Amino acid sequence: MTDNTTGLWVKEIKIDLDGCTGCKSCMRACFVDVIRWDEESRRPVVAYPEDCVWCLACECACPEQVIEVVPEIPAPLRSSY
Ligand code: SF4
Ligand code: SF4
Repeated sequence: MTDNTTGLWVKEIKIDLDGCTGCKSCMRACFVDVIRWDEESRRPVVAYPEDCVWCLACECACPEQVIEVVPEIPAPLRSSY
């Protein structure tokens, strides 16, 4: 499990590498190159978490559903619904 703290929009990007099959869909889906590829491990790497724009394309693209993009939402907003 990777755990990456990010900047403005997103608190962290989690990828459960134990469930990852190495299909590269997340890397291809991320248009701002936050997710890159590690040829050695043949698994995705969250290389530039600070550039994440919370589009959730990587989450949607992952057939194994092992990616979780956690938004940086203030607690009052989260509890108001
Ligand atoms: S949420 Fe969007 S910008 Fe962020 S890592 Fe996933 S695909 Fe890239
Ligand atoms: S889309 Fe999911 S299964 Fe495919 S490489 Fe990315 S994390 Fe692994």
